[in-house]
Amino acid sequence: MTYVDLHVHTTASDGSFSPAEVTALAAAKGLSAIAVTDHDTVSGLGEAIEAGIRYQVEIVPGIEISTKFHGAVHILGYYLRPDSPALKEVLEWVVHDRDLRNEKICKRMREDGLPVEYASLKARFGEVVGRPHFARLLTELGLAGNVQDAFCRYLEKGKRYFEGRNFLSMERSVKIIREAAGIPVLAHPFQYRLDDKQLRELIEYGISCGMLGMECLYTGYSEEQRTYLLSLAAEYGLIPTGGSDFHGMPKPHITLGNADVPFSFLQSLKNAAGR
Ligand code: AMP
Ligand code: FE
Ligand code: FE
Ligand code: ZN
Repeated sequence: MTYVDLHVHTTASDGSFSPAEVTALAAAKGLSAIAVTDHDTVSGLGEAIEAGIRYQVEIVPGIEISTKFHGAVHILGYYLRPDSPALKEVLEWVVHDRDLRNEKICKRMREDGLPVEYASLKARFGEVVGRPHFARLLTELGLAGNVQDAFCRYLEKGKRYFEGRNFLSMERSVKIIREAAGIPVLAHPFQYRLDDKQLRELIEYGISCGMLGMECLYTGYSEEQRTYLLSLAAEYGLIPTGGSDFHGMPKPHITLGNADVPFSFLQSLKNAAGR
């Protein structure tokens, strides 16, 4: 059986491997396909697709959008058209909002005497700069032992370098993905700490917005949890997907391909996308 990984981050957002490096790693692991699903950007897709041809790994174009529905909810989008004007407009808004938030974080760091300029962070990390990048920076400056430690000490809500940002609504995100001809999928359903009733409410709300799939296989989910999510997906007529959420160094416990997603999952996704 061949395997795929439909949830992978690169340096285009907060991963530590470039799109080409992730693709090479996928080839080395014998994966037949990966979906590149960077946070709030499609800017890594071109490089990944090019590398995919070289390494003979199928690249599924994707994205992961951070949204709010009560708490944080992540929506994956597959096979979306990266050049969709509506998508572009929304992603530009997200980057602009992050810029405003990140400038505030940099200002506070400078007030504390840290040598931080936002322009150089953007030059180094790309257009989507997030708290994970600040965590890396604080670690390099010797203020934290690692990324997790930096979050605990400085970046979690209420800590010195925390600043909030605005989020797209779940409805807008799902609709924008559909408008870009993509398949919107609820990411990692057990990460939101919902009970069964709340999870069903989330799923039903998502479906009312146009959501078409649910991530059922994911790093750390037990056989029981996988089976449960697969049955929920079947009950609601959602396309089941799966992936690791590989980030490289920022999440060292996650290895590429570790969600053991059979190729048949990609096949149903492709059928739905008309590919
Ligand atoms: P941002 O969207 O820039 O505010 O950053 C949010 C990202 O930071 C999330 O997607 C997580 O990957 C990461 N994150 C949030 N809280 C923590 C935490 N306590 N420890 C490690 N990573 C975190
Ligand atoms: Fe991330
Ligand atoms: Fe996520
Ligand atoms: Zn992710």
